[in-house]
Amino acid sequence: MLQLSMYINGAWQANNSVAKRQIINPANGTVIAEAAEGTELDAEQAIQAAKQAFEQGPWPRMSAEERAGYLLKIAERIEAHHEELTRLETMDNGKPLREAGYDVSDAAACFRYYAGLILAPHGETYPVPDQMQAMVVREPIGVCGLIVPWNYPLLMSVWKIAPALAAGNTIVYKPSELTPVTATKLFEFFDQIKLPKGAANMVLGAGETVGHAIAASDDVAMVSFTGGTATGRKIMQDASGNMKKISLELGGKSPNIIFADADFEAAVDYALFGIYAGAGQICSAGSRILVEESIKERFITRFVERANQIVVGAGDNPITEMGPLVSQQQMDKVLHYIALGQKEGAKLVCGGCRLTGGAYDNGFFVAPTAFAETTPEMRIVQEEIFGPVAVFQTFRDEAEAIQLANDTKYGLAGAVFTNNAAKAMRVIKKIRAGITWINTYHGTYNEAPWHGYKQSGIGSSLGTYGLDEFMEVKQINFNLDVAPIGWFANR
Ligand code: NAD
Repeated sequence: MLQLSMYINGAWQANNSVAKRQIINPANGTVIAEAAEGTELDAEQAIQAAKQAFEQGPWPRMSAEERAGYLLKIAERIEAHHEELTRLETMDNGKPLREAGYDVSDAAACFRYYAGLILAPHGETYPVPDQMQAMVVREPIGVCGLIVPWNYPLLMSVWKIAPALAAGNTIVYKPSELTPVTATKLFEFFDQIKLPKGAANMVLGAGETVGHAIAASDDVAMVSFTGGTATGRKIMQDASGNMKKISLELGGKSPNIIFADADFEAAVDYALFGIYAGAGQICSAGSRILVEESIKERFITRFVERANQIVVGAGDNPITEMGPLVSQQQMDKVLHYIALGQKEGAKLVCGGCRLTGGAYDNGFFVAPTAFAETTPEMRIVQEEIFGPVAVFQTFRDEAEAIQLANDTKYGLAGAVFTNNAAKAMRVIKKIRAGITWINTYHGTYNEAPWHGYKQSGIGSSLGTYGLDEFMEVKQINFNLDVAPIGWFANR
């Protein structure tokens, strides 16, 4: 069984904590690892190590080229361990191997992207009056607290770690207490390539203790968080103590709008992909499928026919198309919402239950589920379920599609399917969300910002925007003609 330790000030903290947390494979309930359960004290030690490394260590002081060199070495290690990381991610999170494999490739690509971007020109000069040179330089912020969820354990970590380190910050990172396995591997790579002591620290443990300690610390200059909106709110409160900078990537309830003139089979296919990839545990999942009234019956019939054929099983079985939910608790939450949908009067058109029998019995499997005949005020339409549960809504025209699409507190993602290019663009521009697609779903690139509107977040990940999050901007005004200003009389 794997033993997972914290990594503080360039050393594994083998005996730092007596308490251990068991890490469970959600496909079969077996214990795959024991993780040290961090305390506030561990978080504080990590913060002090990062502070010392920021104030005195080489990481913020070395050239961007040198830092980029470290990032490229990390990318190489990830690539060299692709198969192992993929297997570990599947074991820990439950996602099928093909999904985990994409995540591992994306993680390596993200390190490469920021290794390149940090070498691009940063800063500006301004044409102010001739005797002055005005310029902007970019600087790291300081100690950055990075807190991530369990749905993309490695990739969500890398989306923060790569730009934060590239910018010259030092970090205190906390994975989800449910899925610390691949993160630990990543820190093994940091150790092997001899990342300067204290530049990257990892604490393990619960959000309410370790996460809270990071978010509330006066020595942490910024906290970058991905997770639920309710936790995001707590982080904002904790961060207010020292007015630390915050970046929040939160939940969603994203609309996938299907017009009658869309390519029918492609739209059905992407609607399935939009909600059932990751067993629906994706922040940008297309969990509300808005279908034009005239094709409603045909669309739902075909969707259900296909949903019922999805092969649900353990992620390490190559034929599996959809894995389990990450934990018993997540499965119970999803089943609770399914019961609620029925109570609210929505019509269950497929799934609606835990899968049992044989190998299913020890895992946390829920059948691909969908509800039709919903109304906008139902909780299953408004709240993030974070499981394989789609809700269908219907609309009569463009205006109603837009109105329904925007009718939640969230604003993370959205898609439109139509063969009318002008209509696609008109609608997508009206969707109040940061990540959108036309005739596709889910695909996203390191180069583009990942960003939520409304209660889906503050700030951006990825792209140049994701690097900017981890940098301060400083204006410098340089007087080229030094003489007294003469504002007050020189008596
Ligand atoms: P969560 O909010 O429960 O936990 C996320 C992380 O925060 C974990 O590491 C947890 O330990 C920590 N945490 C919990 N309470 C804390 C506190 N009081 N102070 C500091 N840290 C605390 O979320 P989750 O269940 O792990 O993940 C699912 C959620 O993440 C969903 O809402 C999903 O939409 C969201 N998510 C968003 C994005 C995005 O990019 N917008 C991406 C992935 C997941």
